[in-house]
Amino acid sequence: MTNDWARRISQFEAAQVRHADDPLPGQAAFRYRPGTRPVLISAPHGAYHWRQDYWKRPDGYTAALAHVLAEDTGAHALYTVRRIRPDPNFEDDSEYKRMLARLLRQRHIRLVLDLHGASPEREFALALGTMDGQSCPNYEAIIIQTFREQAFAPDHNHALDRLAVNPLHFKGGTLQHTVTRFVWEQCRVNAAQVELNAYLRVVRSDAVNTSTFAPDPIRQRRAITALINIIMTV
Ligand SMILES: [Zn+2]
Repeated sequence: MTNDWARRISQFEAAQVRHADDPLPGQAAFRYRPGTRPVLISAPHGAYHWRQDYWKRPDGYTAALAHVLAEDTGAHALYTVRRIRPDPNFEDDSEYKRMLARLLRQRHIRLVLDLHGASPEREFALALGTMDGQSCPNYEAIIIQTFREQAFAPDHNHALDRLAVNPLHFKGGTLQHTVTRFVWEQCRVNAAQVELNAYLRVVRSDAVNTSTFAPDPIRQRRAITALINIIMTV
């Protein structure tokens, strides 16, 4: 297994994700990559997404991360590669969610990990959202344990080593019609939202509009290792 993740994520994002473009006529804004393992990696915010009345910025590199994780583990992946309307993490009447529900049924998926991006100012490396412990009863403990093995801990005093579990605004769907909530409540499949701080997600510093920002490849490697190990335990 190659682990040159940063290069592969960067190449995939550049070649395959058209963040601000409409889908081609007759095509979806998202892409499904079939797998063999009972885990599905979702990245609904890989490109711009229509949230009520405006285009919200992409969670950069999450589409590429979903793809690369699937490539290395055999998980299924569903991710946006063109701008999408409406935002599948905000409304249930969504082609993305209909496709997701169909896949969960047909492919006997046991766990959905829904990847998102948080800004570099956030006081965590990763935020795990399980609707305050509801949406992922079978896997929440092992997910936390696996992040701990890569030295991301809920009580860590350094923000970029902290795994926040259901912090305010990142609970995965106690208020909004998220993917996590949809998968758990309507499909009865375990689901967790994973928010990655930009330091652990962005692989090229020119991708964000701040001169003080530099990606953290070592922490990114630890986060990806944890995600791979989580997928392999299911
Ligand atoms: Zn998001």
